[in-house]
Amino acid sequence: MVMGPTHAMSGAAVGLAVAQILPAQWGGVTTIPDALMFAGIAAGGALLPDLDSPQATVSRSFGPLSQGLSRVVENASQTFVNLTRSRKDPYCRNGHRTATHTLWFALGTGAAAAALMSAFGKAAAVALLFVLLGLAIRGLLPEWSKKADWLVITGVSALVAWAAWQWAPNSGSGVVMGSAVTIGVLTHLAGDFITKRGIPLLAPLPLGRQRWRNLGTPKPLRIAAAGPTDKVLLTAFTLMVLVQLYLVITGTTIAQQSLVPALTESKLRWWPAL
Ligand SMILES: [Zn+2]
Repeated sequence: MVMGPTHAMSGAAVGLAVAQILPAQWGGVTTIPDALMFAGIAAGGALLPDLDSPQATVSRSFGPLSQGLSRVVENASQTFVNLTRSRKDPYCRNGHRTATHTLWFALGTGAAAAALMSAFGKAAAVALLFVLLGLAIRGLLPEWSKKADWLVITGVSALVAWAAWQWAPNSGSGVVMGSAVTIGVLTHLAGDFITKRGIPLLAPLPLGRQRWRNLGTPKPLRIAAAGPTDKVLLTAFTLMVLVQLYLVITGTTIAQQSLVPALTESKLRWWPAL
């Protein structure tokens, strides 16, 4: 499932689930706007690895700015591969699906986001939401956003970020909100892991005599990027998001029903407990 909508939707689905499960004692979110914000950051994080492809729709989210950044990411990734590759790894001519498609990228981006949010609190969380939401909208609606000017996407992201600034009390800790980025990136990696090409998940750790070997599911279980399985997954994740949105917005979280009984009726509400 390398298609943008599936990446964005799976990030939102997993993000919503984690937002409901993480207990408040661990710094988990305790209000509905914060749970939605967590999911928004995860959905955008699920597009982040493909910023290494200047051709990808997601790289056009913020016009020339994100395209320029994308070129930098692609070149840096390519240089990194060629600096760290073993003699058995082929010379890298294109940085796509390399450095940003590793476990370390998932952990590093989450740690950076957590550090920012721990230092600057809500301002950093809202700023990050703004940037990642732009990526999520591009990912989710590639056809619509192809026609819409990038300024429209930027405007929509800014509007949602403004709403978050107004209504989200920022109840989650910096570490928890930062983990939303890691969750998003990991969801992206899982999606690419099951495609024909796979990803260099643990690179540049040596695997046999190679450092940048692609890993993936066993061959018969791999899917075509834009094939029918992608559509099935997209439908499944969309349903998961809708059901969870209903549960979150009505205050009936899945956590209450089965996973964590300790999260009682006060786990998620519009405002933090007084
Ligand atoms: Zn990818």
